[in-house]
Amino acid sequence: MKSYKIILTAFLLIGSLSMANGQDNAKHEDTEFYTPVPKEVVPGKTSNSAPSDALVLFNGKNLDQWVMADDRSQPARWKVRNGIFTVDKNTGNIETKQSFTNYQLHLEWYIPANISGEGQARGNSGIFLASLGKGDLGYELQILDSYENKTYTNGMAGSIYKQATPLFNPARKPGEWQTYDVIWLAPTFNTDSTVKTPAKVTVLFNGVVVQNGFELKGPTQYIGQPAYRKAHGASPIKLQAHGDKSEPISFRNIWIREI
Ligand code: MG
Repeated sequence: MKSYKIILTAFLLIGSLSMANGQDNAKHEDTEFYTPVPKEVVPGKTSNSAPSDALVLFNGKNLDQWVMADDRSQPARWKVRNGIFTVDKNTGNIETKQSFTNYQLHLEWYIPANISGEGQARGNSGIFLASLGKGDLGYELQILDSYENKTYTNGMAGSIYKQATPLFNPARKPGEWQTYDVIWLAPTFNTDSTVKTPAKVTVLFNGVVVQNGFELKGPTQYIGQPAYRKAHGASPIKLQAHGDKSEPISFRNIWIREI
């Protein structure tokens, strides 16, 4: 009986030690899931014009509302042409001049018809619904070519990257414009910086709800588990210049309403 207890204690000790080290040994594959695959839905046609009280973040003419994310003193250097703008992967992420807390956002994005690559390396970009600094820090709503392009489901278009698989897959073919309508409620924090209420997001992708009041576990984490580690207030919205080699994607008609 005594030896049984010793063995049990040793077993529990080893178990808790390996759990404590779990984050150190984590691999990116650990948090990538392939099933179940969201059902495909054919989206309808929708009206996307800005309401009268919206702040227009891109009106087809210039990027005056945007700056370089890694150096906010620099104007956004992505190229505006023919009423749209295109990711410039050489210059880096861009983000809004203004900061926001709770809002409704409309944004349209376009995967070029000649897109190449596969999985996460096919039309990858993303919207950091609250940018928390340089690089890919913040809460990412993924943008990707998800039309017949297999990847982990919590990394598809419409996913909250590595946290929430979209409820459906209403992706249009490359070469067709797609819409996101997002309702974002920022997290709130206690005075000791612990999270009081988590961020909450609802996303319509081509008019189809793909995230329904999902409560985020923390900022996006490529490797390891997300958690709220630092309090923050109102934040800019950031667009991702993802480093993959596929053809860059474009954006148009972006507007926001604070709520
Ligand atoms: Mg991305």
